[in-house]
Parts: sequence; structure tokens; C-alpha cells
Amino acid sequence: MKTPQHATPFALKRLFAATLAALGMAAATPLLAAPADAQIEMKVLVLTAQDDNPAAIGDAPQLEATKAMLDRIGTPYEIYRYDSAAPSLPALEDGNNAHYQAILLPISDARLLNPLPSNPLAQTLSRYQFKYGVRMAALYAWPDDTGCLQAVGQRDTNTSALDATLTAAGKTAFPYLKAGTSATLPLQVKNAWTYFADPATALPAGATVTPLLQGKASDGSTHTVMASCSFPNTAPETGDASSREVLAATFDNNQYLIHSSLLSYGLLNWLTKGVMLGERRVYLDPQIDDIGLPNDSFPYAWEADGYYDARTTPWTFLGATCPLGGENAKTGTNPCEYRITGKDIDKLVAWQKNVRSRTANAADFRLTMPYNGAGFWVSYGGQGAYPPNKPATFFFDLINENVLYDTLTPRLVANKAQFKWVTHTYDHEFMDDMSYDHALNNEMIPNDKVAQKMGLPNYDKSTMVTPNISGLYNADVLSALQTFGITYLVSDTSVPTPPVGATCEKGPWPLPRFNSGKPNCVNPSIYEVPRYPTALYYNVSTPAEWTAEYNHFYGANGIAPYPWGYDLSYGEVLDKTSEVLVSYLLNYDARPLMFHASNLRAYDGTHSLLGDLMDATLAKYNRYYQNLPIRSPSLKQTGELMKRRQVYNESGVRAVLKPGKGIVLTAANPEAQPVVVPLTGVTYGTTTETYGGQVTSFVTLNPANNYSVNIAKSIAW
Ligand SMILES: [Zn+2]
Repeated sequence: MKTPQHATPFALKRLFAATLAALGMAAATPLLAAPADAQIEMKVLVLTAQDDNPAAIGDAPQLEATKAMLDRIGTPYEIYRYDSAAPSLPALEDGNNAHYQAILLPISDARLLNPLPSNPLAQTLSRYQFKYGVRMAALYAWPDDTGCLQAVGQRDTNTSALDATLTAAGKTAFPYLKAGTSATLPLQVKNAWTYFADPATALPAGATVTPLLQGKASDGSTHTVMASCSFPNTAPETGDASSREVLAATFDNNQYLIHSSLLSYGLLNWLTKGVMLGERRVYLDPQIDDIGLPNDSFPYAWEADGYYDARTTPWTFLGATCPLGGENAKTGTNPCEYRITGKDIDKLVAWQKNVRSRTANAADFRLTMPYNGAGFWVSYGGQGAYPPNKPATFFFDLINENVLYDTLTPRLVANKAQFKWVTHTYDHEFMDDMSYDHALNNEMIPNDKVAQKMGLPNYDKSTMVTPNISGLYNADVLSALQTFGITYLVSDTSVPTPPVGATCEKGPWPLPRFNSGKPNCVNPSIYEVPRYPTALYYNVSTPAEWTAEYNHFYGANGIAPYPWGYDLSYGEVLDKTSEVLVSYLLNYDARPLMFHASNLRAYDGTHSLLGDLMDATLAKYNRYYQNLPIRSPSLKQTGELMKRRQVYNESGVRAVLKPGKGIVLTAANPEAQPVVVPLTGVTYGTTTETYGGQVTSFVTLNPANNYSVNIAKSIAW
């Protein structure tokens, strides 16, 4: 392998010296980026005059965007709130020990950014930057606050989105962005006030401005909306950096805006010079519940006593049986429900293979199938109810589905290796009031037998999805699951469960932190993995059904609190729903997604709602990001990942960087669990992984070594 970048240190030194000479500085004293004995805490300092409570002050979204950026990656930070009327700073250092690796301002403030004689705090920060080689960024900057940019215009991108493009330097800083790489693939700044900036007319001597992201004003002129500025060190002390860098973006941000999501990793990476605690990976795990069983077809909703019309509030009782007709003897289902067929599975497999082979970054894509064994053939341990009372060896013809046979089971078995499998109980009885014995002997064990008889691969009996996410408060059921061997099960992000130590009752509980799960409150031996519900509902199998139900909630007369105000077409429903799903990918969110079997119907003979939605989501993803492969973990892998992140979050992990010498990692875990620390930008130990062109080392801190590891190697700073 060629390494030309390492082959020219002499030439680089000469270039460096020449640059210094050109700047009128002596190169006689070797310039280090920090004092020789410096110790830099790898933690980001967030300086804000904003309140943490969005209800209390109007401009807190920028702070929320900042926290989201750091929480998603798992980078430690400290928020220092200053009084805007009398700004102040926390203690930045003691001796040559720097308390922060980087400085971040959610909103710019010239008193902290521009070290004019009248801004003593900015002078203190500037000195800190020079001394330790620490970078600073303002995420929503008034250009003139920076000392290197000036405002030359503005745009309300609520009314007119800004199509921005990355400069060559921008592409280097954000190599994972596809959006912004050309005029035809712009990075859209939308729903955010934006200032256009140019380099300041009165740029300090020797300062340089490197535009990273640019856009065109309405008069056609091109201006900067994000730049890094380099200010020379005009009075260097021994060990000082030769310059200090400030990055400024001149558009507004919050944690929900796509442009904020797109840029956040690159900003953090720039800010930390690519050496940070934390990691990012892109995940997508659609879980298709109820495989084997029929689902309702909107608007018909089956309850214990019969059918209801789901379009009315409250639902209207329609009768004890499906008003459209009785059970079809060939399928075992009635016209108010849909059970996927063998043909649906064949089309689904063809589609998934196509995604894996033809869609960029999706080679790992594989659906998870939470299945109910009762729905399958008797010869596989099911009840043979579709159609009922037919012998397991009944003749069937794959081409003609009009024979009296269950086509689903054989096609699932034939294609079982294409999917990941998770138990969803044998017959989908809700578990809130179930007994220990019933849960173990009528649900868990029989469904596992079906898995064994079908020979399901990619199946781990220690994970499950409970029917309707029920049973999470039932000690008897949880005990049965524990006996069976369940260690990970799914919870619902829309109804967070109580943490361990709380009263184990339903209520308004907070979600676990980003990409974390938590032990079940009632039975902490079982770990909950929060899963997202989606707007592709359990009871739709055709575009007409989905569009009707979506508009029932969000259309012209929608019953949801914030309907769109008009009835959407199928294409618009796909667009709105995929917009939500792609945001999970862009934010490195590992939480799985909930779907249902009827979403897999080949509604036109080829396409399915789930396939259409995934296609739309992946197409968007590949317009935003590049070279970040999408991971499709099993429920067990996601559970392990979330547990790892939770333990990491709760163990007070500290990293101290000694420039040129190494990094010391320490932690404290009261439960004596091993703490796995993701360290990006450093190769160390046996568990390393390259993703998006960057290495992450997963370093385990154990009680045996007093939760401390000394990574003794020269790390560029
Ligand atoms: Zn279900």
C-alpha cells in the first residue's frame, strides 16, 4: 500500500517554515500544539446563555441541537450557562491541565469569540486555544461575531430553501456527505434563518478564511454559510500552537432539522480534530411482527366481541362477524383481514435481494421476522388454521395459489435464510394478565419448537417481541421469560417504561438516553430495547388502505393534533413517512422499527408497502450520505449495543489526552461491569473497526485493572 502522505515530512516541514516566513514569523522555536506536559481532558465545553427548558425561553432549540449532536455520538460534554448580561467562563485549566478538548457555542457571542481588547473573555478563550491547540465552533453564528466574517445578506429559508454546496475544503471536512457535493445534489438549508457571509473586510493580519459551505443569494452571488477561520499566534509562548481555528455556521439549527443532522458529525469531528470519545454507525432493522398470522384490513378492526369501524370515534360496533363476508375455506381468513401468501414472500425475497445487491450502502439489509408459530402448518408445530383442517401433506401448486393450501409456510421455510427471526409468542395472546405457566408452556416453548422444526437460521431464542408489547409489567410473565432464557425484549418508544428503582407502573417516563435501552423495571434480568412505531400501520396491505388510514389521522379532516390539512396521495404518504425514517438513519439511531406482516403483501403482484417505504427511505439516505454502510443488526446485537452504550454513559468515563504521549482512560462502575469505551481516531487494542474511513477502538475497562487503561502511543494533536 502506498502512503505518499508519510513520504514527504521534509517537504512539509519546508512548506511550513516557508509559510511562517511568509507570515513574518520565526520558525526557530519548534511549535508544539500544547505544552510538553499538557493533559487535555477529552470533553467538549458548551458555552450558552440559553436556558435548558425550551418552554422558558424561545431560542433553546440551538442548545437542544448541540446536546443531540454530542449525545448521538456519545461524546462527553459540559454545559456552562452564563448570564448574558454579565458573561463569565468556567475554570478552563489548572497548571498545564486543560479541562476541555473543544469549545462549542450553540449561538455565537462576540464577547466570547472575537478577542478584541474590549472582550476579555474572548481573549482568555483565544489564549486557551493557542496554548492547547483547542478548536472552537459557533453553530449558529452572526457572521460579524466571529472576527473573520461579515454579514452580507440573509434569507428566511422557511419560505425559500437554500441549496448549499460544499467547497473542496468542505468535502474534505464532510467526506460522508453526498448532499452538497454538486449543484444538482445540494445540501438544503431549510426552515432556518440564514445569514450570508463573506470574509471580513477588516480581517486580522495573517488570518485566513476557508469557506466550507456556500450558497447563492437571490441576486445570484455566491456567499459563505459555513467557514473555518485560522488566526495566527502573534505572541507565541513555548509549546503554543501556531494558530487557532474557529468554525462558524451562519444558519439556525435544532435537533429535528435535516441540515443540522447532516452536518453534526463532521462538525464534531472537526472540533475534536478527529480524536474523540464516541462513535457513529448507521442502522436499519425493520421488524415485521405477526409473521404467520393475518392482520386486520383498515377500516375493519377485530376485538374480542367482533368487528368495529376504526374510522369513527369511538369505534362503531359492526357485528360479531366480518360485515364483508365469512371465512374463505381456501385461505382460512375473512375479507376483513389479510394473511400474506407464498407469492408475497417470493416477491419480498426478490425485492430484498435487489436492495442488497443494487442499493448503495444496503448490502447488509435484512428484515427481522417476529413470528407466531400457531399460524403455520401442523407439521411445523402450528395449528394449520390457514386453511383449517387440511392435512400437512396436502398437495399444493406454487404457481396456482387457488388450491386449498397454506402457501405461506412452505415459501417461508424455503427462504428462511433470507431473514432474521425472533419469537413473538406462539399465538399472539396479550401477556398483561397471563400466568407464568401459560406464558412458558403455551407461548414460549411451543413457538420455539416451531423454530426448531422449521430450522430457522439467524434465530436467537434469548430475544423476543411480546404481542402488542404487552407483559412488560407482569412479574409472572417476566419470570417465565427469564426461565425460558429471554435476555432482550422490545419496548415501545412511544410509551417509555419506568427505570429500575422507580415504581413499576405505567406513567409518563422518559425514554432511555440515545441508543440506550434499560433493564426492565419489574425484572431487571431482562433488558428492554426501545423500538419505534411507524406510520405504516399494522392493518394496511394496499396503497388505498394505507392512504385512507393515514388521511384519517393526518388528512383534511384528520383526528391527530397536527394534521397536514389536506388529503395526501400515496406518493405523499410515502414521502412523509420515509422522511421520518431517514432521519433515524442520519442520526445514527440504532432503535429498531415496527411493522406488520400485512405490510408485506405484493399488492400489485410485485410491490409491497414495506418495500415501497424502504425504497423511498434508502433513496433519500443515498442522496444525503455516502460511504457509510447501513448496518442491519439482529435484536440481540442491538440489545448488546444499547447495553454497552448505557453502561458507558453511566460509568463517568474520562479520557485524558497527553499530546504526543497517549491517552489515559478511566471509569467508575458501581456494579463492577466491564465498561467498553468507543474511542474514535485512535488504533489501540484488539477490538478496532473502521467505519466511514475512520478507526474506532473499543477499549474495555475492567475492575481487574481498576477501570484504567493507559494507551501509550503518540497521538497527533
Ligand atoms: Zn403482534
